[in-house]
Amino acid sequence: MCIFCAIAEGQIPSKKILENDKFLAFYDINPQTKVHALVIPKEHSKDFNDVSPEVMAEMTTFIHEVVTKLGIKESGYRMITNIGVDGGQEVPHLHFHILAGEKLGKLV
Ligand code: AMP
Repeated sequence: MCIFCAIAEGQIPSKKILENDKFLAFYDINPQTKVHALVIPKEHSKDFNDVSPEVMAEMTTFIHEVVTKLGIKESGYRMITNIGVDGGQEVPHLHFHILAGEKLGKLV
């Protein structure tokens, strides 16, 4: 089973931030910034190419709730989703990285 599916099902422990029936936010095990969260849909999608617009719409609402709970909505954050080999994706289950808690260097 995919590692993030196992986390979504509670078979692998995670440090949960927020959860509902369709989505889960938890802390990245190897944080790259002071705040580094991951947001996943519980239903498996391989990556952003593989997710429906309807799920993305609901995920947007969920991410708004996550950044509000983390207290970073106003101070700011960066959201990244890696896609495929050239995108550097390591875990093949759609996830958004939320990076925050410090002033981030500019990438683009
Ligand atoms: P990506 O390279 O975009 O696929 O990112 C995968 C992310 O998952 C990395 O930042 C890892 O640190 C993170 N990760 C892998 N396993 C776990 C885990 N068990 N709990 C939390 N984060 C994890």
